[in-house]
Amino acid sequence: MSEKSHETLSNLLQEKRRFPPPADLAESANVTAEAYDAAAADRLAFWAEQAERLSWSKPWDEVLDWSNPPFAKWFVGGELNVAYNCVDRHVEAGRGDRVAYHWEGEPGDTRTLTYADLQREVNKAANALLELGVRKGDRVAIYLPMIPELPISMLACARIGATHSVVFGGFSAEALRTRIDDAQARLVITADGGYRRGKPSALKPTVDEAVAAAGSVERVLVVRRTGAEVDAQERDVWWHDVVDRQSDEHEAQPHDAEHPLYILYTSGTTGKPKGILHTSGGYLAQTAYTHHAVFDLKPETDVYWCSADIGWVTGHSYIVYGPLANGATSVMYEGTPDTPHQGRWWEIIAKYKVTVFYTAPTAIRTFMKWGDDIPARFDLSSLRVLGSVGEPINPEAYVWYRENIGAGKTPVVDTWWQTETGAIMISPLPGVTAGKPGAAMRPLPGIDADVVDDTGTPVPDGGGGFLVVKSPWPSMLRTIWGDDERYVKTYWSRFPGMYFAGDGAKKDEDGDFWLLGRVDDVMLVSGHNISTTEVESALVSHPKVAEAAVVGATDPVTGQAIVAFVIPRGSAGAEVEGDEFAKELRDHVARSLGPIAKPRQIMIVPELPKTRSGKIMRRLLKDVAENRSIGDVTTLADSTVMDLISQKLPGTK
Ligand code: ATP
Ligand code: MG
Repeated sequence: MSEKSHETLSNLLQEKRRFPPPADLAESANVTAEAYDAAAADRLAFWAEQAERLSWSKPWDEVLDWSNPPFAKWFVGGELNVAYNCVDRHVEAGRGDRVAYHWEGEPGDTRTLTYADLQREVNKAANALLELGVRKGDRVAIYLPMIPELPISMLACARIGATHSVVFGGFSAEALRTRIDDAQARLVITADGGYRRGKPSALKPTVDEAVAAAGSVERVLVVRRTGAEVDAQERDVWWHDVVDRQSDEHEAQPHDAEHPLYILYTSGTTGKPKGILHTSGGYLAQTAYTHHAVFDLKPETDVYWCSADIGWVTGHSYIVYGPLANGATSVMYEGTPDTPHQGRWWEIIAKYKVTVFYTAPTAIRTFMKWGDDIPARFDLSSLRVLGSVGEPINPEAYVWYRENIGAGKTPVVDTWWQTETGAIMISPLPGVTAGKPGAAMRPLPGIDADVVDDTGTPVPDGGGGFLVVKSPWPSMLRTIWGDDERYVKTYWSRFPGMYFAGDGAKKDEDGDFWLLGRVDDVMLVSGHNISTTEVESALVSHPKVAEAAVVGATDPVTGQAIVAFVIPRGSAGAEVEGDEFAKELRDHVARSLGPIAKPRQIMIVPELPKTRSGKIMRRLLKDVAENRSIGDVTTLADSTVMDLISQKLPGTK
């Protein structure tokens, strides 16, 4: 960002609303403000204390080895079994009857798995993997819908020391093949299909196509979920044939703290996915600590639901590893939020009396679009903490979420992190922080994050620049699978000695952090840097707008000009089609942010292109705005969206 960015950014964020924690929550909070001081006094001692939440077979010799940066080793010499920590130790402590997952299938079928059930299932699956020839260090690709066999498979891998690579059930054969090849997976675990939008959606044909083209796979283990006919291959084995007949006992061996736990390819919002490698001890310590701290999770009484797909890092860390390490009771849901009706999620919250709920801004904006009357029909009074992740949350969406889902009383924790960081890095603490709508607030205790200018110097309060992490953290990625050089180049070369996350941020006058979107998306209009996030939030603050995405398109006069794609709210009526409405929105942005941020053009669209994890893919919109043919769409959740947008905009200019 240029010099001018500071001055532009400072007049853009006008948000003055503040939401202090409810008194009862503050009083009994798991983590208080002292944690910041404790961590600041001795960061490594702080993380060592957090790692004591886990059960170690062999204690570590050294908390952190940073002698060969940027290759970190945490809890060096320590040994543990991740699956034992997530499952067995709770059973051994007499909590085997506690529910680990209330699973809800989309058609309405349900399954309840206690910790004792989970232990038996994981052991059987671990024995089956061994029978199929999988050994410690091998890679296993998992391509499953949101069914209990997904966490069971992950834990079975962790138990025997195989490294899993979960691939979104929505990805194409080609996307699956490249991920299988990159990791050289020997086994693929899949299902005949899963339920989405009210009907079975097949998975097996995609696997057949991918595996036929991938050389490394010896066996495909298939779960029967929908009963759809599958084209049986010689390498196929059914889960119910192989897993069900195994012994439900398996003795877990300890693995090194740095043993590779999983590879996960980034969600592919910006370009070619990277195979992010996470290891065992540090990863589990930080996911467990952050789940305890950020959600104030009380395992005896809370019912926790993270609505993410496990194919995304949020699901790995906050449906599987963090909650299970803490002995939490979770809800897990297979399908889409509008099946069979648009109140399905609220119905689930009412049914299980969910107390802590974690979702993404994209979902919240969709619910705003559908209307306030839908959640109002359900009893959501059990909720006490709400979380957000995936994109900057627009202040209007934050306030809507708090008011309509949280009855105007629950804290909203906006959690910033990435596949690469493995766990939450920047977030309010629900019993400590007076929340500001749209701000991720402070780095968590033990996290050394800052905002720097383009020379790597920290910006003063009130300044904007690049978000960096200045010291290693336990759940950090260890490398990009098979490509150490790309790891160094991608994350550690822009600012020497610092991890650069790719995101822009601002520190306000109180020193609180506001995420401004990816620096690659920042628009340069007449010499001013303008963040996509701020213009989008200004648009969403208009009562007739549900969602907005903006991009900078080449412009002969201003260098770049702002082009906005807008989805109106359901209640907005027919007037949203005309030029009048576009003018109203352009003026609204100019009034909120200043004339420099006024969009050149507003396009009313029915949908926005998003990744499967719900993030807006601005580069595709930029192609539209600049009248180019549209780039790589393989990680799009719904590849027909770009056609819808193009049809809606004949002769777009
Ligand atoms: P790729 O790196 O392949 O382009 P991706 O960055 O979308 O994909 P993820 O690791 O799932 O893949 O997403 C992390 C990114 O999501 C962050 O870098 C940031 O841009 C955005 N993000 C996540 N949570 C927040 C948040 N609370 N506030 C603002 N941005 C967020
Ligand atoms: Mg990224």
